[in-house]
Amino acid sequence: MVIEIEDLCKAYKNVQAVDGLSFRVSEGELFAFLGVNGAGKSTTINIISGILPKDSGVVKVCGEDIETRAQSVKSKVGVVFQNSVLDKRLTVRDNLECRAALYGIYGKRYRQRLEEMDSLLGLSDILKRPLVKLSGGQRRRADIARALIHDPELLILDEPTTGLDPQTRQTVWRVIEQLRTKQGLTVFLTTHYMEEASVADHVIILHGGRKAAEGTPHELKTLYAKDTLRVYSHLDEIAAYLAERGYGISREKDCIDIQVKGTAEATGLIAARPELFDDYEVLKGDMDSVFLNVTDREITEE
Ligand code: ADP
Repeated sequence: MVIEIEDLCKAYKNVQAVDGLSFRVSEGELFAFLGVNGAGKSTTINIISGILPKDSGVVKVCGEDIETRAQSVKSKVGVVFQNSVLDKRLTVRDNLECRAALYGIYGKRYRQRLEEMDSLLGLSDILKRPLVKLSGGQRRRADIARALIHDPELLILDEPTTGLDPQTRQTVWRVIEQLRTKQGLTVFLTTHYMEEASVADHVIILHGGRKAAEGTPHELKTLYAKDTLRVYSHLDEIAAYLAERGYGISREKDCIDIQVKGTAEATGLIAARPELFDDYEVLKGDMDSVFLNVTDREITEE
């Protein structure tokens, strides 16, 4: 196991940010850690990466306790924080050199590592430039190089693609995929982009510091996503027919969306009044639907 968390708790004065959280992350996994703002994601990440003390619970990284083996754990973890922690006045090269030196990486070993980072992230055009002169996407590449320079076993990424243009998002995503598939790196990721979460091996949805749902994307879709029956014709008649049957619908200009449990329910509706349904499609529930249904359910229960 790369991460083992058992009954983790953390409060800030009267806010219980993490409340009895337990989960495990296996080697080589892409693990998506999701939740609305304030769910407790950053607090958990800061505890795993050793920059915030926990109140109680057990946190182990690569089998080592984060408190009693803090130094060893730090050498095994690389973190890309939401806000860059690089020194803005220094060049990318100087930033990376300082970071490497912190882990005792100098001389030939440092140059070799820098070359590896360059071929992975394409750094040659930005190495000599100070951070202040870089675009958002270039800075993100430098952030990732900083997190990886000491060759960690676990890479933690806190919203790595938020605010980036689509092309840079794709570059960051390609790098993550490459690290995982070619180097077997374990990647722990928070994101608000559900298409990124949908390719994860395992997903946790956090709410109010607790685990609200957990599983593979497929398992979560089966449990929480609803399919949509979208119809494009006879809209008034279909709206009346569905109202009779107690369905809530969402009506757009050209279509009506009906949430259904699955294809069987859609087929039942269509088979009862086939003359109304001559232009329709069934859209499979996706991770967006999972996220909305899980977080809505939690909010309703509050
Ligand atoms: P997320 O990363 O999922 O947005 P956080 O871990 O940042 O969530 O926050 C969890 C909860 O803890 C929120 O209610 C937030 O307001 C609160 N919180 C986070 N950091 C602090 C802090 N330094 N002081 C007080 N409350 C905090």
